[in-house]
Amino acid sequence: MEYKCPADSLASASTIPLPAGLTLPLEVRVHGRGGQGGVTCAKLIAALFTEMGLHVQTFGDYGSERSGAPVQAYTRVDRSAISNRNKVYRPNHLIVLDEGLMGAQVMDGAAAGSQVLLNSRASLESYAVRFEHYRFGVIDATAIAREQGIGSSSVVIINTTILGAYARLLGLPLSVLERAYASLGLAGDLPAAQQAYEQVHVSEPVHGDFAPAAPAASPSPLAVRSLIAHNEDIPASLKTGSWSNQVPIYSEHSAPCNLACPAGNDIVGFIQALKNEGADKAAAILLRTQPLPSVCGRVCPAPCMQGCNRATFDGAVNIRSLERWIGDHSHTALAPQSAAQRKRVAVVGGGPAGLSAAYQLALHGHAATIVEAGPALGGVLRNGIPEFRLPHEALQRDIERIVTLGVEVRCNSRVDKVDMKRLQLEFDAVIVCVGFGPAHTLGAKGETLDGVEQGLDFLDRMKRKRVVLHGHVVVVGGGNTAVDCARTALRCGAASVKIVYRRGREDMPAITDEIEDAEREGAQILPHRQPVEFTGAGMVSAIVVAEVGAGTPDASGRRRPVVTQNTSTMVCDKVLLALGQKSELDLLPDGWTMRDGRAWHGDRTLPVWFAGDCATGDGTVTHAIGNGRRTALAVLNGDVLPDEAPAKRVAPGQIRFSHFDVTPPHKDDQTARPALTFDEVNLGLASAEEAARCFSCGHCTKCDTCLICCPDGVIFRTADGYRVDGEYCKGCGMCVAECPCSAMEMQEKNGVAA
Ligand SMILES: Cc1cc2nc3c(=O)[nH]c(=O)nc-3n(C[C@H](O)[C@H](O)[C@H](O)COP(=O)(O)OP(=O)(O)OC[C@H]3O[C@@H](n4cnc5c(N)ncnc54)[C@H](O)[C@@H]3O)c2cc1C
Ligand code: SF4
Ligand code: SF4
Ligand code: SF4
Repeated sequence: MEYKCPADSLASASTIPLPAGLTLPLEVRVHGRGGQGGVTCAKLIAALFTEMGLHVQTFGDYGSERSGAPVQAYTRVDRSAISNRNKVYRPNHLIVLDEGLMGAQVMDGAAAGSQVLLNSRASLESYAVRFEHYRFGVIDATAIAREQGIGSSSVVIINTTILGAYARLLGLPLSVLERAYASLGLAGDLPAAQQAYEQVHVSEPVHGDFAPAAPAASPSPLAVRSLIAHNEDIPASLKTGSWSNQVPIYSEHSAPCNLACPAGNDIVGFIQALKNEGADKAAAILLRTQPLPSVCGRVCPAPCMQGCNRATFDGAVNIRSLERWIGDHSHTALAPQSAAQRKRVAVVGGGPAGLSAAYQLALHGHAATIVEAGPALGGVLRNGIPEFRLPHEALQRDIERIVTLGVEVRCNSRVDKVDMKRLQLEFDAVIVCVGFGPAHTLGAKGETLDGVEQGLDFLDRMKRKRVVLHGHVVVVGGGNTAVDCARTALRCGAASVKIVYRRGREDMPAITDEIEDAEREGAQILPHRQPVEFTGAGMVSAIVVAEVGAGTPDASGRRRPVVTQNTSTMVCDKVLLALGQKSELDLLPDGWTMRDGRAWHGDRTLPVWFAGDCATGDGTVTHAIGNGRRTALAVLNGDVLPDEAPAKRVAPGQIRFSHFDVTPPHKDDQTARPALTFDEVNLGLASAEEAARCFSCGHCTKCDTCLICCPDGVIFRTADGYRVDGEYCKGCGMCVAECPCSAMEMQEKNGVAA
């Protein structure tokens, strides 16, 4: 965008003084018609000023047109680097190459005292009154250029001629013009410039009240001459690339969705591949980080969608369901690499964290053995999340892809303190992914009555064998477990289901869509209440709940619940407790501790790592997957993680919304729900068309916009993208400004991003 004069002209600059009275910064606007050489005229003016050692910027404002159409070109001049990228709206100097254009639009923004130079065969007097507040110059550059034979018989090129008149208005000595034309290889045009220098007529501005020149037709409108034979081009010696101190570069930036995905998925990559090449190609990208796409595509709270740049335009891209589409419609699996030194790693626990860790180990060519307490792999995915949200087949498909890579699986093998020591000796490393510990209890009177059950146990029982419920069910809690218990209880035959939660509905940590689904299915949420007693003769028959007030905010910013003395009694036949789980690692041998994701014995680290909920307490599947992957890579790379430092994030303001049509998101299909069954409720997308909505933030889509918008036509397609011809790129930044998705940026020539 900014140009500075080349070193050789700077060296000579000292001999060319600045014209007296020239105020900087200077903004020049040239008006002409397509084919008249207006853009080259602006470049020549810029060249003239670089001869004085000044910084310049110049660019044209036109597309692919078009002989005869009005065009504008701009030149800025300053002592220091120019970073302004606007067109020139308030010109200090106006040069009008075609008298037929004179009018309000041409004079727009020109203040009293500005300088106007017009190519016209009319006399200065015919303009003097109407433009008396301007410094006004008139020269018949066309006649001079024709006389001097510049251009062809049908197309007379006047830009080098009128520059002579402009130099005179600037007060430059002719010698400067001579020198500039010689250095630009335009010495042949000097006589015409010299003639214009001598013949230009100038009237000085009259000071007084000023109103901008009224729009008026040209005093002597001229017919637009045919200019078809003229081919405006950059003079061969005018390597304008040397003027710029910034250049456009193709540079990827981080899409906010990618940054928000805890699993580390390349969302832009997989969506663009899905759009252009189909599900298998998309899977080849997604499966690098995501071993459980069918799972996450169903149960992830999708923080990626909250960060999507399209949200502020017409609705976030339905990323989660596109991920599900790929998981469900592709049969692709990545091939394992071969490792130079194959490590043997034991992974304790086969939930999402353990599965992700084992998957990455196997992908990188190492031997992974999952040691799982339960009868099958999956952790909470298998024994917690209900079938109507996550069908068995979807989970099984994802797990099989992992196991097929060559992961060894030892189920029904609960690891205790003794086993831990043994595994540590038997394997090169151990990654512990055992999830949360036992469920919290309430400590209320009557909690051990029959009919009061932990929600996790209830969900697990349901997964093994259908449970039948009768009567009224109360669920205590506000997380995913509570909501899953409520929706499952309704499907098991409960007459009513109430969710009792000690804070407000808006504070419930469960996924919002799931809360809404639970209410739609008939569950009632009773916020700001806490059970204080369960009553019944052997079997629970009622629950005493106290109202809960809001105290001072806690570390999370939420108000602390304050249990009051105001109580009421609710009749119930079943209570399900969903109060969260403890972080307890009962498999750690005596003397071992967990710190920073590693096992320590005193001040010595052991070759034992921790991942997933037991290490982070994050509590989502996607976090567990991301943490499992990073931990596996840390094990393989000696605790040094590959650099995932993001490039600059693309904000919504950096997307050119005007390039895109408003298209609301494609929603997932839902079952009609005539009755509550254990069949999957959300059926996902009907097609992958949603992929076309992705802006591809920060990543080039090869749309050609930069190439089309370059005023100088110096961007070219190459086999793998685009090339900017640095010899001629003036660094105007039009390509960067027009790129729809922020896949380019300006860079200082010394390599620093502008
Ligand atoms: C009911 C429910 C619903 C949920 N819904 C969602 C949801 O919709 N979306 C979401 O993102 N998250 C949800 N979550 C949270 C999510 O499931 C967990 O954050 C995630 O499963 C944690 O993964 P993990 O691998 O760390 O642990 P887990 O999934 O708990 O897996 C731990 C594994 O380790 C095994 N194990 C434990 N101890 C030993 C031992 N000593 N030896 C050998 N093996 C052992 C366990 O059997 C288990 O298989 C839900 C949680 C629950 C309980
Ligand atoms: S795992 Fe979750 S956050 Fe990541 S891309 Fe999938 S839906 Fe989005
Ligand atoms: S528009 Fe596409 S690339 Fe941009 S944030 Fe949304 S999903 Fe990501
Ligand atoms: S304008 Fe189009 S082709 Fe050019 S960098 Fe941007 S996305 Fe790529």
